Amino acid sequence: MGPPGAGKGTQAKFVAAHFGIPAISTGDIFRANVSQGTPLGVEAKRYMDAGEYVPDEVTNRMVRNRIEEPDAAEGFLLDGYPRTLAQVEELDDMVKHTGHKLDAVVVLTVDQEEIVQRLLQRALTEGRADDTEEVIRRRQEVYAEQTQPLIEVYKQRGLVREIDGLGEVDEVTKRVFNALDVVPES
Ligand code: AMP
Repeated sequence: MGPPGAGKGTQAKFVAAHFGIPAISTGDIFRANVSQGTPLGVEAKRYMDAGEYVPDEVTNRMVRNRIEEPDAAEGFLLDGYPRTLAQVEELDDMVKHTGHKLDAVVVLTVDQEEIVQRLLQRALTEGRADDTEEVIRRRQEVYAEQTQPLIEVYKQRGLVREIDGLGEVDEVTKRVFNALDVVPES
C-alpha cells in the first residue's frame, strides 16, 4: 500500500520475483482491459481517467477470478488492492475460500510533493491518461479518504510493515526484502 506514485508497482514486481509468486496489480489488469477495449476496460476507463476508484463489485470480481488461477495457488502479492474497506472484507472472504493467509501488508511512505513530481514525470515518459495534474491531485485525495484508513485496520492485525519509500529504487527494494524476510511464511 501507499499513495499513488509511491512506487508500489515497481517494488511489487521485485518482491514477487524474489518470492517466486505473481504480482497481481489491479491497475495493470484494468489498463490491459482498457487497451484491449473489453467491456470491463470500457467501464473502468471512465473512473480511472477521473482519478476515481472503479466500483468495488467490478474490482472484487476481477481479483477473485485472478487469485483462483493456478499460478497464484502457492501465494501472490497484491499491488493496489484492497483500496477500500469493502475490498478488505471481500479479500478476507476470498482467502478463506482459497485457503491463503495474509502474511504482511507493506506500506510505502513518501513525501506528498515528491510524489506529485514523480507522477508528473511519469506522465511525460509513459503518457498515462490519469497522470494530469488535476487527476493526480484527485487520486491523492481519494487515497487519503478511502485507502489510508485501511492501514490502521491492518495495523491492528499486526500485519503492517512500514517502509521508507524515498530514495533509489534498489535501496527501497532492499528495505522491503529486509522487512519481509523475517515474516514467517504461511
Ligand atoms: P494504479 O495503477 O494502482 O494506480 O491504478 C490505476 C487506477 O485503477 C486507479 O486510480 C483506479 O481508478 C483503478 N484501480 C486500481 N486498483 C483499484 C482498486 N483496488 N479499487 C478501485 N479502483 C482501482
